Amino acid sequence: MEKIGVLVTHQPLPYLEQELTRRGCRLFRLWEAPETSRLEFCRENSAAIRAVVGNSNFGADAATIDALPKLEIVASFSVGLDKVDLVKCKERGIRVTNTPDVLTDDVADLAIGLAISVMRRIPSADKYVRSGAWKKGEYTLTTRFSGKTVGILGLGRIGLAIAKRAEAFDCPISYYSRTEKPYPNYTYYSTPVDLASNCDVLVVACALTEETRHIVNRAVIDALGPKGVVINIGRGPHVDEPELVAALVEGRLGGAGLDVFENEPHVPEELFGLENVVLVPHVGSATIETRTAMADLVLGNLEAHFLNKPLLTPVV
Ligand code: NAP
Repeated sequence: MEKIGVLVTHQPLPYLEQELTRRGCRLFRLWEAPETSRLEFCRENSAAIRAVVGNSNFGADAATIDALPKLEIVASFSVGLDKVDLVKCKERGIRVTNTPDVLTDDVADLAIGLAISVMRRIPSADKYVRSGAWKKGEYTLTTRFSGKTVGILGLGRIGLAIAKRAEAFDCPISYYSRTEKPYPNYTYYSTPVDLASNCDVLVVACALTEETRHIVNRAVIDALGPKGVVINIGRGPHVDEPELVAALVEGRLGGAGLDVFENEPHVPEELFGLENVVLVPHVGSATIETRTAMADLVLGNLEAHFLNKPLLTPVV
């Protein structure tokens, strides 16, 4: 990939940056340009840029693509492609790849970890020990996770991996997707409200599209009720955040475990004082093992494209 111009939208994993450089790519570091002049940065370097490496926060929107007439491939360092204008890529004949499968286990692990953390209140129990409060009395009783009904919004790769893990905790599994899947042990509901009415823990694991934006709305939250728990390891905009915050503050929802937020890295501060809420900074795939495997997929896809070989994980 000698001298191929690659626009990197975000500060990449050092390994990815090293490997791109080692292969002779010329890197254009978009995240170093001031936010107000990023399009200008793209235009100024457009004669050289033939590839974009984006991620879950900053991909390739219509304006970025328009600013890059020589763009041939968008290799996303994420499985979700909600930050890539796929329609425009198709129109322009720009190839798009993502990083499926390699991150599935980590994201599913985190979903289960969040559910147990919320219900057993592990973060506040940890604070209880560290603050010395234990010396003054026992910690409060919490709620069991094992055996609770787990409802999954989107039974794709990650949703299915969450279901398998939850089964090991004797949790009955139910789900909502656009189509019923061939899993006779899992109960299908044809609307998110029906799913929420019939589960204790609702996990968001679908792709973010115009259809699934705010799929967890007031009606879904009310259907879950004061004992229900929302776990979001999908994308922030899947959940109507002001409605979620109001329900938690008013005690109309039992708890929430959130990896993703509507306006990252900004998190509603009303959540900070709630012990039935566990907050983590979009770390679903953030292990050394998985991020390295994701980097290898990005590199493999770029190499395949520029050597005219079949892409490893093509989307467009
Ligand atoms: P996947 O295998 O493509 O699964 C996506 C699921 O979304 C499919 O089961 C699909 O089911 C469902 N879906 C799509 N449109 C829907 C709709 N309108 N209503 C209901 N369900 C719908 O993708 P994956 O690998 O499991 O990843 C899922 C998502 O997880 C990604 O898109 C990404 O946003 C998120 N993610 C988050 C992290 C993190 O760090 N927190 C990491 C990786 C991925 P049907 O086709 O049957 O409707």
